[in-house]
This record gives sequence, structure tokens and C-alpha cells, in this order.
Amino acid sequence: SVIIGVLALQGDTREHLHAVAELDAVGRPVRRVDELDSVDALIIPGGESTTMSKLAVEFGMLEPIRKRIAAGMPVYGSCAGMIMLASVVLDGRPDQVSFGGIDMTVRRNAFGRQVDSFEGSVDISGIEGGPFHAVFIRAPWVESVDDSVEVLGRVKDGPAAGRIVAVRQQHLLATSFHPELTGDLRVHRYFVEMAREAGTTTEG
Ligand code: GLN
Repeated sequence: SVIIGVLALQGDTREHLHAVAELDAVGRPVRRVDELDSVDALIIPGGESTTMSKLAVEFGMLEPIRKRIAAGMPVYGSCAGMIMLASVVLDGRPDQVSFGGIDMTVRRNAFGRQVDSFEGSVDISGIEGGPFHAVFIRAPWVESVDDSVEVLGRVKDGPAAGRIVAVRQQHLLATSFHPELTGDLRVHRYFVEMAREAGTTTEG
């Protein structure tokens, strides 16, 4: 079965590994380049993108992950992971870097500095079974996207209604919220399916 790596530099790696373990896939923590080489797809967890960025540089993972992304490896990023997949990051630290890959601008901690976290309802196109109960923790939102990016979900109601919180660009998927924390496996199942399809294509 398909091998899904979960980046293990910082963040809620374990929760993503638990989600993958529930599905028809093998999950593996990825901290080093040789571990990256052995996976078919990668999840970048929630956490703190400034720290993750710094550790990615220190562990020599920045360029190897950028190369795998360019070569078509499926990647899913939740929250801080979404920031790491963005081509442009607003309100980041000056030295903050991202892997990039999704042609979008994200704003860090966008939902307001007073409100550390909130929960809301999000429909994701392509995923059936009703709206997600989405948990946002000092989350980014997507400020704008290029034409190449497919908007999959927006906040349904409340003051942030309409904000983009789920996107896909070919083999790359990102959400502002944390499905790994709510036991709703639909996003992970969708991603495992993306990974399986990508594998089928490369094997011919
Ligand atoms: N605020 C964090 C950041 O900017 C993201 C928070 C999260 O992943 N829950 O990286």
C-alpha cells in the first residue's frame, strides 16, 4: 500500500500518523532526507511555521522537499503545513521560508489575534458527507490564489464567512483547519486517494 510520510520536525505529527493508521496506507515520520526518499507522499502537520521553517533549513530538508514537490510528490498541509506550501506568506517572520508549490498568498494568524482559536463549518468540494466541523487554531487563511489553484472550501458563517480555507493545486492539498484533531478522516482519505492515483500514474 501507499506510504505516507508525516514531516516530524515540529507540530502535531502524531495526530496525522494516527489518522493515516486508520486508513489503507502506511504512515511514517519523516525527519531526514533518507526517510523522505522512502515515502510516496507527505503530510506537513499543524504547528508553528516559523519554527518548522527554521528546522527544515537546519535539517537540510528545504531543498529536498522542494525537489520532491517539483517532481510531483503529493503533499497535504494542515494549518502551519498550509503556510509551508504557500508561494507567498504574509505576516511571516522576515527570515521565514516555505517549500512553496501552491500559487497562493496566505496570511498567518489571520482570524484575529484576540481569538486564538474558533470552530466553524466548511464544505469541501469533492468530499461528500456534509460540512466539516473545522477547528482553527491561530490559523492562516488564503488571501488570494492564482488561476491554477482550485478553491475547495470557504468558511460558511460568522465574521470570517467566505474566507478561503481549503485549496488544491494538482498534487498539492492544503487546509487552514486541523482534520487530524477531530477524528473526521475524510480529508486524509481524500489525500490517500490522491497519493494512490499519483503512484499509479508514475508506475505507468
Ligand atoms: N500560527 C501558526 C503558524 O503561523 C499555525 C498554527 C497551527 O498550525 N495551528 O505557523
